[in-house]
Amino acid sequence: MSRKNYKNHVFRCSFCGRSADEVESLVSGPDVHICNECVTSATEIITRHRKQASIGDEKQLVPPSDIKSELDKYVIGQDRAKRILSVAVYNHYKRVNNPVVSDDVDIEKSNILLIGPTGTGKTFLAQTLARILKVPFTIADATVLTEAGYVGEDVENILVRLYQAANYNLDQTQRGIVYIDEIDKIARKDGNPSITRDVSGEGVQQAILKMLEGTISSIPPKGGRKHPEQNLININTKGILFICGGAFEGLEDIVRRRIGEKNIGFEKSVNNLSRLDKSALYARAEPEDLLQFGLIPELIGRLPVVSSLSDLDEEALYKILTEPRNALVRQHKRLMEMEGVDLYFDDEALWEIVKIAKKRKTGARSLRAIMENVMLDIMFKVPDLPKLKSIKVTREVVTNKQDPEFTFSSKKRSA
Ligand code: ADP
Repeated sequence: MSRKNYKNHVFRCSFCGRSADEVESLVSGPDVHICNECVTSATEIITRHRKQASIGDEKQLVPPSDIKSELDKYVIGQDRAKRILSVAVYNHYKRVNNPVVSDDVDIEKSNILLIGPTGTGKTFLAQTLARILKVPFTIADATVLTEAGYVGEDVENILVRLYQAANYNLDQTQRGIVYIDEIDKIARKDGNPSITRDVSGEGVQQAILKMLEGTISSIPPKGGRKHPEQNLININTKGILFICGGAFEGLEDIVRRRIGEKNIGFEKSVNNLSRLDKSALYARAEPEDLLQFGLIPELIGRLPVVSSLSDLDEEALYKILTEPRNALVRQHKRLMEMEGVDLYFDDEALWEIVKIAKKRKTGARSLRAIMENVMLDIMFKVPDLPKLKSIKVTREVVTNKQDPEFTFSSKKRSA
């Protein structure tokens, strides 16, 4: 281009075609130009690809013992559940990684049912598993699900959310983990198969069943209602692992009755039976008990791996508060460290938190709320106290009888 032509030339973005006047800035290279907006779009695409690659390159099988020891770093107690889950998950991905050859043995899908009181780690276990295995994960609440066509959330929406969690990567979606919470709440109330349709219970169980069995489901990529002219994504649920969980209040009585009936005449065993606690009874639950509870037989058949979680005692709650990598005490200490302040908890203060949590009967769930409550005032004040060096939380702080002990230094802290 001659010097004169160069002067009159209108430079345009080589990607979107907009001229230099139409954009905020135009970066030029030898014979190419790119505008600020195309740079932003390109960065987004690269980030998305990187993210997909980072979730996607983990097709290696993790042995059960490794899964279990990883779970041990985060989940306190529930040893048997962790073992059962580790083996089930290992088998699941072994099956997914080795597609069936025509006349080969067809290994059935082993979805998992977790039974146990609120706040004992059912959701947390499923979530931690997904993180260890680097597969996408989503949580669904069975009580808001309805059959397609009814008001409420379509069962298929679960797959939309998993697809989103997989960053719109179909291959990854089809290897993901779905946790369906409160599965016990959609049980038939009377435990008998109904002839009429029942929107809240059996119908939803049927809809969930299809997904659990393995089906090809067409979903609108962005969720919402399906439109006839919309491109749908076909998701095969065969390789998706479904973990269902519920508290199953009352199941213990069904189990007790069944064992009791079998033991009539053996007075000693019956006496022992009345002494069995809820966790021990949950651990003995059989498919027939779940049927009586109100799950449909087909669904029970599709949840062949059943594990119970036990109530967390004070010792376990104390450990949850202090030991795991993401333990609440560690998190708060770290938060204060970022401000340059040392945070200490008296052991008595921690046991007091545990005692209050135990009273609330929501397992480990209440620990966070109680801790937040204790820390609120501290977190509010610290940024305004530049010479604060350390904080000690005593039992009286937890019981709201005293303020925390603050120690100051003569100099302002640097953090
Ligand atoms: P649920 O059994 O009702 O699904 P969650 O898994 O949601 O209970 O538990 C609530 C929170 O309590 C979790 O996010 C986790 O922080 C903590 N928690 C529960 N059980 C355990 C456990 N066994 N070990 C460590 N943390 C736990």
